[in-house]
Amino acid sequence: MAETPAGGRPGDRPCPCHSGRKYKRCCQPWHQGRPAPSPQALMRSRFSAYALGLVDYIVDTTDPTGPQWGAAPQAWREEILRFCQGTRFRELRLLHHSQDGDEGRVSFRAVLVSGQEQAEMAEDSRFRRVGERWLYHSGERVG
Ligand SMILES: [Zn+2]
Repeated sequence: MAETPAGGRPGDRPCPCHSGRKYKRCCQPWHQGRPAPSPQALMRSRFSAYALGLVDYIVDTTDPTGPQWGAAPQAWREEILRFCQGTRFRELRLLHHSQDGDEGRVSFRAVLVSGQEQAEMAEDSRFRRVGERWLYHSGERVG
């Protein structure tokens, strides 16, 4: 895994989404099955899920009607896992977020490190609420 915990109870570690809060007070409840209450909470929890290698969570929070949904489930899961394992998720900053009914948008900047390469990425993400759950629909790279 990209950021394997070095002992201690996982919930007491800083959340890998870089919120400054403990994992148990941040993304852990959503990873354990409670619905993330907002698009920005879902976005953070997906970032920390990537950092922790929680492939199921990434798959389960991706909108099956969106373009990010993998057509070949097994290959897609392996691709997610490889990305998680080969990347360190160093920084996350949410810039803007908005919500209009069951549609949400979150723009963010992230710093990812792969090997010796550090890359900054910015994305404008779209989310859709289905029932009580927010799902990641699609993202457009910006900047
Ligand atoms: Zn978090």
